[in-house]
Amino acid sequence: MEDNCHRESDVSYHEDNFKESLDSYESGMDSTQMSSDSDLDFIFAGTSLAADLAAWTSEFQVKHNAVDGLLKLLKKHGHPQLPSTACILMRTAREVKTVEKSGMEYLHYPLKEKLVETLDRYPVQLVTDLDTLELSFNVDGLPLFKSSGKSMWPVLCAVMLSPVTIFPTALTFGTKKPTDLAFLEDTVTDLTEVLANGLDYRKKNIKLIVRCFVCDAPAKALIKNTKCYSGYYGCERCTQRGIWLKRGTYQETAELNLRTDASFRAQTQPEHHHGPTPLSDLPIDMVQSFPIDYMHPVCLDVTKKLIFIWCRGEKGMRISAGQVQEISSRLLQLKSSIPSIFARTLRGLDELERWKATEFRQFLLYTGRLVLKGVLREDLYNHFLTFSVAIGLLVCPTLVQPHHHYAQNLLQYFVEKGCELYGATFLVYNTHTMLHVNRCYSFQRPGQLQCFCV
Ligand SMILES: [Zn+2]
Repeated sequence: MEDNCHRESDVSYHEDNFKESLDSYESGMDSTQMSSDSDLDFIFAGTSLAADLAAWTSEFQVKHNAVDGLLKLLKKHGHPQLPSTACILMRTAREVKTVEKSGMEYLHYPLKEKLVETLDRYPVQLVTDLDTLELSFNVDGLPLFKSSGKSMWPVLCAVMLSPVTIFPTALTFGTKKPTDLAFLEDTVTDLTEVLANGLDYRKKNIKLIVRCFVCDAPAKALIKNTKCYSGYYGCERCTQRGIWLKRGTYQETAELNLRTDASFRAQTQPEHHHGPTPLSDLPIDMVQSFPIDYMHPVCLDVTKKLIFIWCRGEKGMRISAGQVQEISSRLLQLKSSIPSIFARTLRGLDELERWKATEFRQFLLYTGRLVLKGVLREDLYNHFLTFSVAIGLLVCPTLVQPHHHYAQNLLQYFVEKGCELYGATFLVYNTHTMLHVNRCYSFQRPGQLQCFCV
């Protein structure tokens, strides 16, 4: 429990880190800071107060929330021309020239330069002792505005030190997703070079290692140039052909023929591939280096799906309105017992549509076991408990190593029993991936299930 509490904190930090990184890098365009497209055009060149403020903010490394407050005050007292936020203030001093790639505006950040720049920000002692440095990458689409379809597809690199630092190696901006994989090529070229020759830094040569590319399922299919998970051959881990039952499902649960780096590169199952990907030029495992994203399938799909089936599913599995109310009131009663390290307070099932991933995670690992007991039908409760214990073992750094085989057995049971309890349609892609999740994480970093979170 204690370890898991620590991990909860880690998850929040990890998720925030990605978001903060996006918020703060120099030429970032952030929907939380900008209310419309016109904000992108904000220019204050020649506004000396704004330029001086930007320089002052940079020189004294003033926190952006403090600058936001100062700007608000200055605007109120006679300087309405100033920008509203620190992000806009700091960004506008820079001009960037983009090129067109993959049908989008494209900007490349040389990896070596960004790595040196990043390492310079860490304590000297920490970077002086470095012999090897791990990097992780993320690619995903980020919608920018509610009012238009404009989005970014950044390629982000995470330097896996403490604290983790994230920077972009490529930015794309357009009205649709990338039309091809050319936007990955510069990153792959840079990465190939530093993986082969290391990074020269302060008279040392640091060996670089790619820990993983972490993406959600659609982004992963895009960058690996494979069929999407909803396709008949969409499973990135095994070769079974899906079956269409109102939606794609994967009915086989045992003796799965697993994909390997060699089988991927040789494209031994052509139906799985759209074509080659620049990523296969890298010396990485084309299957294991792409861990299954934890947040989407575990928290936002399987856990959420179970709760929806109980509350709003078909007769026989659905619980009564009174039972829903009982679970909600139990959740609210637990509110005062939840430590502050949890990102969110507890909410009842009446707000289920608005629950965030971290709330489903909390329900799965902690509160669900308590609030469902004696309310949910016993066989459904035991089935949920199987899932809860399995994931609880995989996220615990001290329990995962001795018990990951047991966790695998529990997940196997969970998927097979789920088909029996909830029908064949239960075996959609995200449920199916629970059969692969243990191997995926024990291969990568035991106990770091939640670190592979987009
Ligand atoms: Zn599979």
